Amino acid sequence: MKGSLLYEGKAKKVYSLIGEEYELILEYKDEATAFNGKKHQTFRGKGRLNNLISAHVFSYLKLAGIPTHFIQTLSDTEQLVKQSQIIPLEVVVRNVAAGSMTRRLGLEEGTELPKPIVEFYYKSDELDDPFINDEHARLLAKVDQSDLDHIKAAAHKINKHLQVMFSEIELRLIDFKLEFGRLHDGSIVLSDEISPDTCRLWDQDTNRKMDKDVFRNDIEDLVEIYEIILKRLEAIVHV
Ligand code: 5GP
Repeated sequence: MKGSLLYEGKAKKVYSLIGEEYELILEYKDEATAFNGKKHQTFRGKGRLNNLISAHVFSYLKLAGIPTHFIQTLSDTEQLVKQSQIIPLEVVVRNVAAGSMTRRLGLEEGTELPKPIVEFYYKSDELDDPFINDEHARLLAKVDQSDLDHIKAAAHKINKHLQVMFSEIELRLIDFKLEFGRLHDGSIVLSDEISPDTCRLWDQDTNRKMDKDVFRNDIEDLVEIYEIILKRLEAIVHV
């Protein structure tokens, strides 16, 4: 049974579960935000889409042997997860230059990277999630170098699985953001969500943008795009 509201973020609410100390309920909201909350809009049905898309992606990764917090979906907008202490790092993996990388480094959008690149950002709304290195991460995020090495290796592994999964539904995985959390036994697992809110996905043939950039840059209707992605995932992953 759903317990009390523990936390409300921009896209999700987190509830305790009565009688289960180490499990939580995530409820996905219909809100879309961009530019650290400066752009904001409600899309009816978005919570369902993010919940179900993320559930499909996590099920795929679980089957591939990646330790995650995901247990099962409970309803259209809710999922059951293992409780984890979120490590305050946004772990970004890039296969192709886009977004902040093009602005920071002057690379042209769409430039293929010779090898995937893993970056760390410090999760802080007040500071606008600054780009940091391993030393900053050790200072700020209560992690040691072996944790960071483990997270980087997991991020590369997840990237390989996700590239295969998205190519099966005719999408190119340009870049994405992961979050990791620590379970009560101290082990580190993949947490949070993976959805078009947290990934850049381009159509394999036309490079049409099929992710939150359609909202960030007013390109197309977010709900229609996310529906297409869910339908395609439903055809290849069983939750
Ligand atoms: P960039 O650094 O280019 O803005 O983002 C790189 C990738 O990470 C993109 O796929 C973007 O969607 C994701 N990302 C980075 N920061 C955030 C964030 O704060 N929230 C979400 N949902 N995704 C993020």
